[in-house]
Amino acid sequence: MFDTVLIANRGEIALRILRACRGLGLRTVAVHSEADRDASYVAQADQALCIGPASAGQSYLNQAAILLAAEVSGAQAIHPGYGFLSENAGFVESVERAGLTFIGPSSACIRMMGDKVSAKRAMRAAGVPCVPGPDRSLPEDPAAVQAIAREIGYPVIVKAAGGGGGRGMRVVREESGLPDALALTREEARRAFANPEVYIEKFLLHPRHVEIQVLADSHGNAVWLGSRDCSLQRRHQKVLEEAPAPHIAAALIAQVGERCAAACRQIGYCGVGTFEFLYENDAFYFIEMNTRLQVEHPVTEMTSGIDIVQQQIRVARGEVLSIAQADVACRGHALECRINAEDPRTFAPSPGRITEWSLPGGWGVRVDSHAGVGYRVPPYYDSMVAKLIVHGTSREDALIRLRQALSEMKVGGISTNLPLHRDIVRDDAFSAGGVDIHHLERWLAHRASA
Ligand code: ADP
Repeated sequence: MFDTVLIANRGEIALRILRACRGLGLRTVAVHSEADRDASYVAQADQALCIGPASAGQSYLNQAAILLAAEVSGAQAIHPGYGFLSENAGFVESVERAGLTFIGPSSACIRMMGDKVSAKRAMRAAGVPCVPGPDRSLPEDPAAVQAIAREIGYPVIVKAAGGGGGRGMRVVREESGLPDALALTREEARRAFANPEVYIEKFLLHPRHVEIQVLADSHGNAVWLGSRDCSLQRRHQKVLEEAPAPHIAAALIAQVGERCAAACRQIGYCGVGTFEFLYENDAFYFIEMNTRLQVEHPVTEMTSGIDIVQQQIRVARGEVLSIAQADVACRGHALECRINAEDPRTFAPSPGRITEWSLPGGWGVRVDSHAGVGYRVPPYYDSMVAKLIVHGTSREDALIRLRQALSEMKVGGISTNLPLHRDIVRDDAFSAGGVDIHHLERWLAHRASA
């Protein structure tokens, strides 16, 4: 049982984890780069240690420095947050070998889910619905691949088994494009992911991105905490998320949710996780599992009333899940806007010193942020400076609250995408709910040409 947690991350999620630890009476150790030395959450931790220069490769990704920081501070557990080392099975093995607790699943589970082919195979075996296509990597023989693609039916998508971050994928609309797509994706996979394996599946034309949050303990218990819709994306980056996914029959979501929880029990999964699906024509298709806390977890916290980060830490301490599936309800609706330091039209990053920071408030409004007046947004990391989350009794109620909150929020000194969010929440199709994953890019293209 640990009493000190090292937070191997930065920004809003470092603060979010710090607060969860405090709530559980745990000591915190913040590790930070030279660029984050003066951040307020660093000062709030019980102990702070600089682990390297600004460059993430030498600090937040510096495994040896983080393990050394755990040793000198006496931290017995490491919370990875999201991004950085959160899904790095090799790092988790080192943490396990050092006799420390990794607040997340085992390295074996991360490795299995990190390979999209083995993940798909495991999920299919557990009865989770997957995108049509074989759950094995493609053979070298071009004729054999051609036969597989024909059986699936065009369009198909060639994907790298080790791919991530929206890279290592190519859509093939007709047979003539297959050889090039294969060669290019294999080459990219070899170079970028050090794993040349590629696989193929049906390319869905107008899907929504719908995901299921799960929570599992180390005693074989697992629950699902509801659905989220994260279809509003630009370049595969989520911009605005909500819970639950609108206009999907609750019974269908429950059926898929049960399968996800069952899959967790089957693979011995412990911790929080997210099953990501494409949703089209009333059907769910598994695409991947994220074996970590996600940026958008607060919308599920608002609808379920469950502190997901505290639960994550409790199951890592070996506690038996205190929540049964029957205790989990979905109340009302929640929406989250990712507020980024970027130009709202060109999306160019806008680092610099914040001179005005005026937050919205009132019933059902939550802001998760590490920033404030005088905070200098560093140019080295992800540009997200805040998450604005609202909760309402219905989607309509939550949307009204979000429009109000967005109009109240003022940030000066840097550019942010607040104006973009203010426009999105007035868009008719988004307001109606259930737009597909291409909606935002279509909307942006239309706006650019108007
Ligand atoms: P990554 O790990 O890189 O995020 P994913 O497998 O989650 O890769 O896919 C990223 C995105 O690519 C999805 O959110 C979706 O927009 C698109 N995509 C992936 N597979 C398909 C598919 N079979 N059909 C249509 N779009 C897909």
